[in-house]
This record gives sequence, C-alpha cells and structure tokens, in this order.
Amino acid sequence: MITELGLLDYLGPFYFQVDSVTGAKEAVRRISAEQVDGIKIFHSRVEAGTTRFDADMEKLRPDILQALVEEAHARRLKVYAHTSFASEAREFVEASGDVIVHSIHMAETGAADVLELMAARGVAYIPTLAVFEGDYTLEPDLFFSAQLQDKIWDVVRTSITAPGSVALAYRNVPGLANDRKRSLEIAMANLGKALRAGVRIAMGSDAGNAGMPHGATVLRELQLMNEAGMTPMQVITAATRNGAEVIGQGQNLGTLEVGKLADIIVVNGDPLTDLSALGNVELVVKNGKIINPDELEFKDIPLSGKQRE
Ligand SMILES: [Zn+2]
Repeated sequence: MITELGLLDYLGPFYFQVDSVTGAKEAVRRISAEQVDGIKIFHSRVEAGTTRFDADMEKLRPDILQALVEEAHARRLKVYAHTSFASEAREFVEASGDVIVHSIHMAETGAADVLELMAARGVAYIPTLAVFEGDYTLEPDLFFSAQLQDKIWDVVRTSITAPGSVALAYRNVPGLANDRKRSLEIAMANLGKALRAGVRIAMGSDAGNAGMPHGATVLRELQLMNEAGMTPMQVITAATRNGAEVIGQGQNLGTLEVGKLADIIVVNGDPLTDLSALGNVELVVKNGKIINPDELEFKDIPLSGKQRE
C-alpha cells in the first residue's frame, strides 16, 4: 500500500507513507520518475514535525527499509536516512544505505560502534547541528531571526515568526526546548566520535526546515561543527568536497579543479584561523559569472509558511 502522507502533505506531492514492500517500490518508482538524484527516508521512532521528541512512532519495518534501499539503488539513486537512535542508524547501514542525516541525536548505547561500521562501509554522516539549536534557542532570538536581519530577504525572515508559523508553534510545545538542547549535546558528542572513527562527514543545515533559511544558517552550522572538534579545514572540506560527493556531484563541484564548475566565494579574512571569516563574503562567482548581490531579487512564489521558512 502507498498513501499520500496526510501529516506531511503540505511538503508536496513526493512524500509517501508506505506500509508494504510493494508500496515501497512504487514510491521509489514515482519519485525516480521526477529525475531526482536521491531519496530520503524517515526511519525513526521519533516523531518529526511539530511535537516534542517522543519516541513512540513506528520506524520502518526491516523488509520495507531493505526494499526502499534496493529499489533506489537499482535506479542509481542515493539513499539518505533521517534517523535518531544508534540502533536506527545501524539498521540503515546494514540495509546498505548511503548517508545518515541529523546525527545520532537520541540517547542510546552503541553510537561509537555504529560510527565505526559507517566508516568501514563508507556511509557518510551529515550532522545538521544548527537545527537543534534553532529549535531550543526560541528566546530571545527566535530561530536566529534577529541574527538574520539584513542577511536574508525580509519576506523570508518575517515568515519565520508569522502568525501560524511552525516556529511559533514550536515555542508552545512543552518540553521541546529541553529535548532539542539535549539532542544537540548528544549530536555534538557523536560528531566527535564520528571524526575519531574516520567517518566521511558532510555539512548540511537542514535548510527548508522551520526557521532554517537556506544560506544564512550555514555559518552557524560550520561553527558548531568546529566546536564539536573539527578543525576549520575539516569543516570547510565537509562543506565543499564532501558535500559534493555525498550528493553524487563530486565530478562537478566541491573543489577548485579544471573541468569543474567555477562556483567560488572570496572572503575577507582567514577562515582557517576563524571560520566566521566565511561570513565576510566579498565576491561570489557562480558558474564562472560574478554575482552582484544588489541585482538579485526575491521572486515570490506561492508557498505555505513551512515551505517558505
Ligand atoms: Zn530529516
């Protein structure tokens, strides 16, 4: 069976809830038909969305998890998994998944072992630390909204705190801030373990989630990765070369080499001594063309609050 997932249908037509092997294969087939490069699966007992981190959801059945990975790989799609506990990450790795996102961020023994297994199998890890922090630093700077002033279009920034926004709803969920704070602590510790195990780490901010606008929240993500024990060079490599590789674009992006796209930023300062220099962007070159920020316009498109955030 395959059903359009009611809970998440505000996210668009490519979110499916599957409860059979046949349904899993059909979902991958439909997504694949849209020329995507990968699929993301939600394999966690922790509920996503607007409630606190109660570990009372059903994760994917083993045969369905396996079918999703196999069907995606048969179509040359990478498989990314949203997991929370070490045991969930292990199940995904053993099912031959490719990339784990959002860290192992819930308390459970066995994280170090899973991370060693990931290193041995070449499964990459995208920590997404800033999103946890964004969720618990709800006061006084709700989802970094003050920090983001003048850095992103106001229409995007104000949508974070608009009436009915997910961000505002989060603030009223009892216990959520504490849950997210604890998750950030666990995720930071596990990033250190991933580093020591030799796991390939890529940067992702979970942009698109509530209060995580594209671009602007990356800087905070880089700082948190640094605080978790990565050197500035390791952080930059995670955000460039490794990021390109985990989305299957290593041949086009991620390093400055002949034959790759000329996507370059020039910053004022030395990010190898202080990563915040990456926020002092002097020049952006996209595909060989210099971009003038004053000529960029916000092109409004009809989106729900959640999508815009
Ligand atoms: Zn996710």
